[in-house]
Amino acid sequence: MEQTFIMIKPDGVQRGLVGEILGRFEKKGFTLKGLKLITVDRAFAESHYADLSAKPFFNGLVEYIISGPVVAMVWEGKNVVTTGRKLIGATNPAESAPGTIRGDFAIDIGRNVIHGSDAVESARKEIALWFPDGIAEWRSSLTPWIYE
Ligand code: UDP
Ligand code: MG
Repeated sequence: MEQTFIMIKPDGVQRGLVGEILGRFEKKGFTLKGLKLITVDRAFAESHYADLSAKPFFNGLVEYIISGPVVAMVWEGKNVVTTGRKLIGATNPAESAPGTIRGDFAIDIGRNVIHGSDAVESARKEIALWFPDGIAEWRSSLTPWIYE
C-alpha cells in the first residue's frame, strides 16, 4: 500500500491545528502509520529540503522549519501521495482552494502550515529520513469499509 510523508510545520503546531489536520486525513480514510512531535536542527531541515537549496527562499524556509516543533507523520492508503497533496492544497495559499488545508488555514506561502511528499519516490526518501527506526506495523480493521 502506498505511503506518504506529511509534516505539520511549526506554524500549524503553534496555531493549534494538529487535531484538525490529523482529523482530515483520518476522516478521509487514510491510515496513520507514524507520528511524532520533533524539533529538527538546521542540517536536518537542509537535508529534507535539499532539492530547493538553490532557491532564493531556501534560508527563510529552513529558519521557518527549525523555529519550533513539527508533527511528522506517515499516512498510508490508495493514491495517498496525490490525494494527500489535494487535501493540502496548492503551495501558495492565495491559490489553494477553500476546503483544502492551506486554503482554509493559511495566507502566506512562507507560512503554509503543512508539507506533503510530491511523489512516491520522494515519499520513500522522506519517510526514511524522518523515521530511520521504521514505522508502526498495523492494519486498520476499517479496511473493508473503506476499500471495495
Ligand atoms: N516556499 C516559499 N516561497 C516560495 C516557494 C516555496 O517560502 O516561493 C516554501 C513553502 O513553505 C513551500 C516550501 O517552500 O511549502 C517547499 O516548496 P515546494 O515548491 O516544494 O512546495 P510544496 O511541495 O510544499 O507545496
Ligand atoms: Mg515540495
